[in-house]
Amino acid sequence: MKPLIQNIKYITLLLLLMASSCSTVPLTGRKQIALLPESQVINLSLTNYNSFIKSHKQSTNIRKTQMVKSVGAKIAAAVKSYLKSKGQESLIDGYRWEYNLVVDPQPNAWCMPGGKIVVYTGILPYTKNAAGLAVVLGHEVAHAVARHGNERMSQQIAANYGAQLLATFIQNKPKETQILFQQAFGLGAQYGIMLPYSRLHESEADKMGLVFMAIAGYNPHEAISFWERMSKVGGQKPPEIMSTHPSDATRIEALKKFMPIAMKYYNKNN
Ligand SMILES: [Zn+2]
Repeated sequence: MKPLIQNIKYITLLLLLMASSCSTVPLTGRKQIALLPESQVINLSLTNYNSFIKSHKQSTNIRKTQMVKSVGAKIAAAVKSYLKSKGQESLIDGYRWEYNLVVDPQPNAWCMPGGKIVVYTGILPYTKNAAGLAVVLGHEVAHAVARHGNERMSQQIAANYGAQLLATFIQNKPKETQILFQQAFGLGAQYGIMLPYSRLHESEADKMGLVFMAIAGYNPHEAISFWERMSKVGGQKPPEIMSTHPSDATRIEALKKFMPIAMKYYNKNN
């Protein structure tokens, strides 16, 4: 009987938490559980971002660095304008956008909650131009705006520590919170642990990314060419941008299906 009682406790707690911490993903309207206060997630982001920046070399190529900053700023402006039009601006409260190009051969990029964007030089041969970079940044920024990391941390906390209250968890287990953060945001690669985003999160980030790049003035069709180039990358696939969720073919099909909606935003804004 004990496991049943524990399950009931767990489910009750989960329902209570869900009732108090359900939020809505922009564009898709999906309801999600984001248990952690976003300010807390942004604080964790800052700590991890600062130590990443300190330990990685910034590119000295002025032209490429400028392109990352310029495309990043356009995507950030598009996000703000989209959320404002939907009355969801509060999702980016506390964001202070920063754009970096770091020297690293991996084809990767990410955006942490709070608006801290990092592009690895290893992805530039695949992005090829500003529009290709807009595909990547639109997608990465979408993960942050949709609070996918918060949702993943929440799922992990609920699964592993369901019987404890969340506030107590964060206060009493700073080390565990830090590890969960790194797993949830794909920073685990440095520590030998990685959690690729789920198919659902990838598909949401793809759709939102197309809309953001369209509003920013980039033709969303560029996303198809970009993912076709990425599908030809061989070798071991690191998490996030090279994630196998979904497979390249499935992703490209889904992008094509969503294209008419993205094009409406493109035509309206350009
Ligand atoms: Zn992704």
